[in-house]
Amino acid sequence: MHSATHCDVIIIGGGIIGAAISYYTTKAGLDVTVLEKNELASGTSSRCDGNILAIDKDPGFDSQMSLKSQQLVHELAQELHVPFEYRNPGSILVCENEQELEAAHKWVNQQREAGLEFHMLDRNDLKNESAYFADDLYGGLECKTDSTVNPYMLTYSLFYSAKQLGAKVHTYTEVKRLNRDENGQFIVQTTAGEFTANKVVNACGVWAPFIGEMLGVSIPIHPRKGQIIVASRQHPVGLRKVMEFGYLISKFGGERQVDNMTEKYGVALVFEPTESQNFLIGSSRQFVGFNHKVSHEITKYIAKRAIRFYPKMADMMVIRTYAGLRPWTKDHLPIVSPVDEVPGFYIASGHEGDGISLAAITGKVMAEMLAGEETTIPVEALRYDRFKERVVN
Ligand SMILES: Cc1cc2nc3c(=O)[nH]c(=O)nc-3n(C[C@H](O)[C@H](O)[C@H](O)COP(=O)(O)OP(=O)(O)OC[C@H]3O[C@@H](n4cnc5c(N)ncnc54)[C@H](O)[C@@H]3O)c2cc1C
Repeated sequence: MHSATHCDVIIIGGGIIGAAISYYTTKAGLDVTVLEKNELASGTSSRCDGNILAIDKDPGFDSQMSLKSQQLVHELAQELHVPFEYRNPGSILVCENEQELEAAHKWVNQQREAGLEFHMLDRNDLKNESAYFADDLYGGLECKTDSTVNPYMLTYSLFYSAKQLGAKVHTYTEVKRLNRDENGQFIVQTTAGEFTANKVVNACGVWAPFIGEMLGVSIPIHPRKGQIIVASRQHPVGLRKVMEFGYLISKFGGERQVDNMTEKYGVALVFEPTESQNFLIGSSRQFVGFNHKVSHEITKYIAKRAIRFYPKMADMMVIRTYAGLRPWTKDHLPIVSPVDEVPGFYIASGHEGDGISLAAITGKVMAEMLAGEETTIPVEALRYDRFKERVVN
């Protein structure tokens, strides 16, 4: 009879969230084992953009948490062995009408009150930013602290350093069954044998609910599909991240002044120059289950939207398109939390369109929870049971 491998902490999921948790937790001196069903970063963390943003976060807790994460990523750029294309040139939001400009003013004031480096931009500032912008844009706003990474390089880099510190990482190891014995120890059955653990962290992104189900824990996370076009650099369109103000409205579910199809597919301009100077152009937002096949219809609307803001992009070459599934929760915040009903079981999932931005702070806070220490930021708003409380109310 073969015996199970015993571990102190098992992290299920080898995306950017599992990577950040393994790095900070091994750094804190704990014994960590990671189980990933495919290759590292084979889920949403390689089907996304790489922005570490505060510009699109709700003023208050959400933007403060993002700011803290940005500071941590800045430190990681010095601390990790493998570079991950880190740059921090800031980012901007552009407005296409008077109403958006007014809303942008409010947004900037709220963020500045919370101590973040936000500024308004006028038409001239936009012209100086890029000669490729459409002439009729009203202005915009800028967040100075925003940065960009290559998301799968950051995932690999975190795992590389975690392994150097002693983490054991098992790829092609799918968790099939998870339960507890009479002493409360976890028994984890996988396609590559059995493990036992004192603590288990569920970092499975959109698949987190399936792991929860194995322990009778219901996790309200749903896949929200998003698509990206990769364009080649024929023109120097811009050096930093640009989004339309309507992206915020699309993310938070408000009403925009756009055509029906753009609204239906949740298409809003996101423009990201990569280090190699290709351009990632997005994106869309849809609830269509676990289907991550690219839709050409949506590609068309994303391209149309990009051309609205950068007319000359109509002549640019497309290299490829891809789609990923954002792990969505209904209040737009992730779940980073113990589960009181199952002592030793933790969830770190549900980062929707912010998992790259929030990976570092999630990893740090989860490491602190696992070590029984006080957390760097207050975590009440990220608790698993916040959803249950709403049902009771
Ligand atoms: C188009 C698009 C653009 C985006 N742009 C940005 C951006 O600019 N900035 C930003 O902050 N965020 C962005 N996001 C969001 C970000 O990509 C996600 O929030 C983040 O990647 C989620 O990471 P994760 O580690 O939770 O999930 P994943 O990367 O999906 O990792 C989960 C892992 O769990 C594994 N797994 C699942 N089930 C099992 C099992 N039973 N056993 C073992 N392993 C299992 C999976 O194989 C997977 O590797 C974007 C998303 C999309 C779709």
